[in-house]
Amino acid sequence: MSIESLEKQVEELMEKRDKLEEQCDTLPQCEKDDGCATCKVYKEIEETDAKIEEIEEKIENLMGDDEIED
Ligand SMILES: [Zn+2]
Repeated sequence: MSIESLEKQVEELMEKRDKLEEQCDTLPQCEKDDGCATCKVYKEIEETDAKIEEIEEKIENLMGDDEIED
């Protein structure tokens, strides 16, 4: 997979994350301090974060392969 398509995936995931965050902010339960601990939207945000991290790692590895170090 190319770096470009991976970067596009990250972009899409970040957009999704933004929308989820907005949703999370409007939930009544999330106004409480520990509300997000049981919030489904927040769980999805965390999962999205993990995916973004995974893809970013892949990008870094791919970029590392391209670099010629000496
Ligand atoms: Zn929440």
